[in-house]
Amino acid sequence: MARAPAQPRQAAGTARVLHSAAFAPERARRLMVGRLREWGVRDERVLAAMDAVPRHAFVDEALASRAYEEIALPIGHAQTISRPLSVARMLDAALSRPRSVAQLQVPDKLRALEIGTGCGYQAAVMAHLFDEVYSIERIRALHESARRNLRPLRISNLRLVFGDGRDGLASAAPFDVIVVAAAGNEVPPPLLLQMRIGGCLIAPIGEQEQTLHRVDRVGETDWRLTVLDEARFVPLRSGTI
Ligand code: SAH
Repeated sequence: MARAPAQPRQAAGTARVLHSAAFAPERARRLMVGRLREWGVRDERVLAAMDAVPRHAFVDEALASRAYEEIALPIGHAQTISRPLSVARMLDAALSRPRSVAQLQVPDKLRALEIGTGCGYQAAVMAHLFDEVYSIERIRALHESARRNLRPLRISNLRLVFGDGRDGLASAAPFDVIVVAAAGNEVPPPLLLQMRIGGCLIAPIGEQEQTLHRVDRVGETDWRLTVLDEARFVPLRSGTI
């Protein structure tokens, strides 16, 4: 005769483990911000913005508990949500003003453009940092899912645009800050022309080997290039799908 399996005890044990490992987004977010600070992200405005945005709300529910880890997670259509340090570094760089542009006047209202909305996470963080934010995505399904992810957050200063971000967004230019979240071989020329004088652009450049670049527009026809850290981003592609 078969003996009754010892299932109830096992099940109780599993339940205890699950309970103690329950996902607590606020705590995970605080830990993430602490790590970013340790890794050299200095700008408190960036850290506060990343503390405010529920990153787990931008990924599939099955991945939510991993949203605050230092990894890029899939968001569908062969794209990823950038790892927290990538987002923080780009925005930290965008907000610091090098000496070459420090004497130029800063406008009262800062207007920013993101190329590569993806799931909408970085756009939400940017909406905490700038007065007006525009974000362009070339994959319609992602543009729409970003809209769905962002709706419950009720962010009023963010506009999502479907299109090829390599053309920029002439109707809303000039921009004080442009952040490109995908790597191309060069900075698309329209983006350079849509920068305000005194504004900056942060973009990863390269294919296998990528480096984050900072471009400052210091005059009508004068741009300064600074190479920042190594980077790893999905490719900047042309056209829309
Ligand atoms: N900003 C996102 C990162 C998304 S990954 C985040 O918060 O994590 C980069 C995104 O750039 C992808 O969704 C990809 O489809 C998009 N992309 C690539 N080339 C583009 C282009 N030319 N115009 C607009 N979006 C582009």
